[in-house]
Amino acid sequence: TENLTAEVIASADAHSAHNYHPLPVVVATAEGAWMTDIEGRRYLDMLAGYSALNFGHGNRRLIDAAKAQLERVTLTSRAFHHDRFAEFCARLAELCGMEMVLPMNTGAEAVETAVKTARKWGYRVKGVPDNRAKIVVAGGNFHGRTTTIVSFSTDPEARADFGPYTPGFEIVPYGDATAMRNALTENTVAVLIEPIQGEAGVLVPPSGYLATVRELTRERNILFIADEIQSGLGRTGRTFACEHEGVVPDMYVLGKALGGGVVPVSAVVSSEAVLGVFGPGEHGSTFGGNPLACAVALEVIDMLRTGEYQQRATELGEHLHRELALLAGSPGSGVREVRGRGLWAGVDIDPTRGTGREISERLVDKGVLVKDTHGSTIRIAPPLVISKEDLDWGLERLREVVG
Ligand code: PLP
Repeated sequence: TENLTAEVIASADAHSAHNYHPLPVVVATAEGAWMTDIEGRRYLDMLAGYSALNFGHGNRRLIDAAKAQLERVTLTSRAFHHDRFAEFCARLAELCGMEMVLPMNTGAEAVETAVKTARKWGYRVKGVPDNRAKIVVAGGNFHGRTTTIVSFSTDPEARADFGPYTPGFEIVPYGDATAMRNALTENTVAVLIEPIQGEAGVLVPPSGYLATVRELTRERNILFIADEIQSGLGRTGRTFACEHEGVVPDMYVLGKALGGGVVPVSAVVSSEAVLGVFGPGEHGSTFGGNPLACAVALEVIDMLRTGEYQQRATELGEHLHRELALLAGSPGSGVREVRGRGLWAGVDIDPTRGTGREISERLVDKGVLVKDTHGSTIRIAPPLVISKEDLDWGLERLREVVG
């Protein structure tokens, strides 16, 4: 039966673009923190769809909400109103402590929306001369894959051969407040950063960094845009990673978990002064804010209102980081460094023990699914609904591989 998996993978390789290199598992079903492959083997999901599955696979509330909405109406386009839209926008704005929502589908679209919003705000409100708007971003960023977004990526793989690139972005080292200060000019309309860099390896900036960026941007009438697509909605133990530093940005960019791993839902959430710059016809998306997306996201928002998932991420996260620190500190350990917050960790493995890819493959053999990021780093981000026992089981397998 080894052949079945190999056959399916070969068929996928033959008929799909090779823009990914998936681990050799073919998933058939999933529930909670567990996935089962086409040969009946079970795996603990310690990636959770890059944090899209914060509430677990097959979450009853989300599936029920989706099913109920499927039977009512799924798409109107924004040509018409529908009866879930107002509530979705109001509830999401409330969760964010903001006023207005602009819904899209994928993370990259929401980032694009944030970029367009900031530019338009810059010209219409701040008074930046035509076509001079600058947005400051951080090195090592990951904000998505569109041509404009890869234009300000520092990852050669993400950028090469996709030019000509969109101008108007300035890249400064992540976590360096002085570099940020020096990069800001009167034409700067926004600073766009991840409060914790996910794809870069779960990089937590130095304490005080986000607060300084907040101060600098407020002083200079620059929008602080927090891309919380991966860090937000419970992952770090708070609704937003910015909260750990007591920082409130001007705009949240949300995605992934907002759709509960059921449907793609993303959004830009901000004030009326900022999102109010849009008029009819100036931006949009056929599927953005559709009834099915709103129904599922409303359930997600409702689950986050109680704080129970954030609490779980805090408690299990403390346990996770305690265990990973022990693992890193044990004699002969292959773990070099551990970073992260809440139920989210980047684990640097001694490169002599293998690449991140090889470590991930060995974990697959042991029934644990994680994903490598650059070099010898693996990323741990299980669904927030994982049990402590399952988390310990997964950590034990990690110890077997890199202990
Ligand atoms: N921004 C951040 C911080 C992300 O982590 C991601 C995805 O990994 C994106 C944006 C892009 O989201 P999507 O893949 O839905 O376009």
